[in-house]
Amino acid sequence: MNGFDPDCIFCKIARGEIPSRKAYEDEELLAFHDIRPVAPVHLLLIPKAHVPSLYDVTDAHAPLMGRIMAMAGRLAREQGAADGFRAIVNTGRVGRQEVMHVHVHVIGGPDPLGPMIVRKGF
Ligand code: AMP
Ligand code: ZN
Repeated sequence: MNGFDPDCIFCKIARGEIPSRKAYEDEELLAFHDIRPVAPVHLLLIPKAHVPSLYDVTDAHAPLMGRIMAMAGRLAREQGAADGFRAIVNTGRVGRQEVMHVHVHVIGGPDPLGPMIVRKGF
């Protein structure tokens, strides 16, 4: 679980090779502010080890992913989303995942967010 992908932007952020505005860090996970926030609070929570997407998360990652989920509410509160937030994990092409290193978006602020997904014909 110590994988590192030299071409992965979030691996580089995890290693400090690309700067980020950190909200929390420990040995195995990192939270930092999204560079293009969609709300006053917009954090990205990542494992430091390279895991491409939620498709690649297995039982072996359960403690780590559990810790990430446990951090979500705590960090949301700390950062100013004390009255609700949204946690999103975009996955793969259909989920429109842009960065292939699993991450949980934590999005919120003082005011209610927009609708979760714009309804399309299907
Ligand atoms: P996703 O579409 O779920 O893969 O989201 C990737 C997110 O990473 C987007 O919201 C980007 O704004 C964000 N992002 C990309 N590069 C950086 C960076 N260098 N620092 C912080 N956030 C980034
Ligand atoms: Zn990575």
